Amino acid sequence: MTAWPTFRSRAMVADVLTRPRTIGVTDARTGRAHRVTDDEAAAGRHSGCYEAICGARVLAASLTAPDRGRCRPCARAGAR
Ligand SMILES: [Zn+2]
Repeated sequence: MTAWPTFRSRAMVADVLTRPRTIGVTDARTGRAHRVTDDEAAAGRHSGCYEAICGARVLAASLTAPDRGRCRPCARAGAR
């Protein structure tokens, strides 16, 4: 179950709404799950290689491959 964030001000709501939308992509080489923006996902879909929001180059793993943990910088970026 996903916990909903608690917003204390309109600024907090605006901050969340202006963050880029991202999807999770697991790196086939490291097994680490990164976040990739929608635009980057579209740009890299033919090659299967993406630049994550943390700056790492990610080679997409099979969708059935389990990840070995989330990338902390990507998680801290707080993308939605
Ligand atoms: Zn990352």
